[in-house]
Amino acid sequence: MASANPLVKCTVDQCTHYMPGDQCMAAKISIYNDETSSKSSASADTLCKSFHPRKTVGDMVGALHNSNIGGMVSATFLSGTQVTPSVECFVSNCKHWHHSNLCDAARIDVTGANASLNQDTDCQTFEPK
Ligand code: SF4
Ligand code: SF4
Repeated sequence: MASANPLVKCTVDQCTHYMPGDQCMAAKISIYNDETSSKSSASADTLCKSFHPRKTVGDMVGALHNSNIGGMVSATFLSGTQVTPSVECFVSNCKHWHHSNLCDAARIDVTGANASLNQDTDCQTFEPK
């Protein structure tokens, strides 16, 4: 049974959507297979397509169209809540993947130390079917 949406924890602090506390302030993220393969066999073969490198003020402004402002406000003012984006996933051979591109994991961990491209990021929660 697919859960509504996994909690997203992300350590990719090079992304404009990253917030301290390993939170993602994007309204929605998309997890894909690496572009060179149509199928993933390890978490390193997956990526967060919504990664946007944090470089300039213009990049910050450009990322605002995909910002979870409501969630950010809630997380700021309501203790015990935190920002989490909605997740769509196209990695259909992951055991957490469900039809309609849903993920039924309770939580996903997105990583990518010193990422500069979206293929530098991974969904660590990927498990092959
Ligand atoms: S890499 Fe993906 S999950 Fe992490 S902060 Fe950026 S958009 Fe969010
Ligand atoms: S755990 Fe699997 S189904 Fe969920 S986002 Fe990651 S790769 Fe996609």
